[in-house]
Amino acid sequence: MSKLKIAELFYSIQGEGRYMGVPSVFLRTFGCNFKCAGFGMPKGELSTEANLVDPSKYSKYEELPLVSTGCDSYASWDPRFKDLSPMLTTDAIAERIMEIIPFNEWRDEHLVITGGEPLLGWQRAYPDLLRHPKMRGLKEITFETNGTQEISKDFGDFLIEWQMPQVDYVPEITFSVSAKLSCSGEERHEAIRPDIVCSYEEYGYTYLKFVVATEEDAEEAIETADIYRAEGFTGPIYLMPVGGVESVYALNNRRVAELAMKNGLRYSDRLQVPLFKNEWGT
Ligand code: SF4
Repeated sequence: MSKLKIAELFYSIQGEGRYMGVPSVFLRTFGCNFKCAGFGMPKGELSTEANLVDPSKYSKYEELPLVSTGCDSYASWDPRFKDLSPMLTTDAIAERIMEIIPFNEWRDEHLVITGGEPLLGWQRAYPDLLRHPKMRGLKEITFETNGTQEISKDFGDFLIEWQMPQVDYVPEITFSVSAKLSCSGEERHEAIRPDIVCSYEEYGYTYLKFVVATEEDAEEAIETADIYRAEGFTGPIYLMPVGGVESVYALNNRRVAELAMKNGLRYSDRLQVPLFKNEWGT
């Protein structure tokens, strides 16, 4: 039986992208290939806010402080917080999911596999989890990824098999790709991988989501979108306001919506911020 290191497993409303508003189980795996310390910082500067959080003071994710700069899910990849993330068997994960969804069986709930970066080595464990008897009836899965990890041949074959039409529904995989612009602080040649994102379209419905704060970010998003299009990317493109905390989000959301309209792109909200203050476990 496979195991996954799980940062969080909770039931909430999807706040972003295609499934905004849909009741969803969030499975947050541990580990990421990025740090995204540039979010919310002046150009060229990196946040040290999460470095000031002392891991020894916390025993649960729900108790961790929120940050207004850098990655808002820092504890899901920062090794200093690894002890908060247990290694669970796929059996234990499936059991736990049944406990947290309202009718103890899959109905209209959607599964979000997020991170960290969920397409790192964990690709090897997902088939075991998704073939588990308790996962029968699950119709829709989204992988929330930064779009830099290739899908392995075995996992790709599994994704196609999982989407075979059933008697009364057609299962569907979505890749929600949050490609990182320069405001993330990550190196562009590592963050912008249109070859990899185009390959996701072979395995599921794929869209791009750019987190932006300023007109300059929006311009970069549009130029970057053109690079993905030139490589053959066909899916929709969203702009989403920066802001893991409400004060930052509220400064940005309307302006980003206007930038999306002006450029003929989709707008994605971050409903988890006004609804739940983006607390851990929401
Ligand atoms: S890719 Fe996502 S999880 Fe990883 S550091 Fe960036 S924002 Fe955080």
